[in-house]
Amino acid sequence: MSKKIRMITFDLDDTLWDNVPTITKAEVETRKWIENKVGKIDWGDLNDFLNLREELIKEDESIKWDISKLRKEIFRKKLAHITPEKYRNKIVEDAFTVFISKRHEVKLFDGVETALKQLSKNFVLGVLTNGNADIFRFGIGKYFSFSVSSLEAKNSKPNRAHFDKAIKIMGDIKIDEILHIGDHQVNDILAAYDLGIKSLWFNNNESIWNQNFPKPDEFSSWKRLPEIINNKYG
Ligand SMILES: [Mg+2]
Repeated sequence: MSKKIRMITFDLDDTLWDNVPTITKAEVETRKWIENKVGKIDWGDLNDFLNLREELIKEDESIKWDISKLRKEIFRKKLAHITPEKYRNKIVEDAFTVFISKRHEVKLFDGVETALKQLSKNFVLGVLTNGNADIFRFGIGKYFSFSVSSLEAKNSKPNRAHFDKAIKIMGDIKIDEILHIGDHQVNDILAAYDLGIKSLWFNNNESIWNQNFPKPDEFSSWKRLPEIINNKYG
């Protein structure tokens, strides 16, 4: 396997920022926005959400990977009592705009910007995300050459579609010239491992490795990332 890498791909959620507070705040504020328009809504619990998701996937397979559509359709179900339909659909679209804007109010982990700036001088940087954050809505977007979301891949990691799309976009980059970086043991690290792609595991909460293949090198601080990559692949 070549020691040299030319391209680094990054997961976004929980790799560049802490996603739970981001999504929770976006969710709470969007619900508030909707209730200001139409009054109290019974939002249900996580189980209701999962059942609703299953139901929606049965009607429309694309909801599996189109999480923006999933969110809109859940709003539409919760607003089923609002008429006329045209008004309901307008609230759904506007609520989604509120949500997606809040969803981009992230706090980058310490050192992210500096590390990306430095790495972008020597490597092609790309994004491979299962989420619907758009890297090009952030200032740090300027360090990236491309981004592949689940919507674009029409699939989710750990399936290989994101990686295939990245390779297609970059054309002349070989599989053993890629390094993938992410927090998720399966969606990021197993996905890369299955394809023979090198990986680094972002582990900032002292998680235990519980996969049945070798753990790649891990890091817990972005401040150390350029040095780790330089030592290993420079
Ligand atoms: Mg992640």
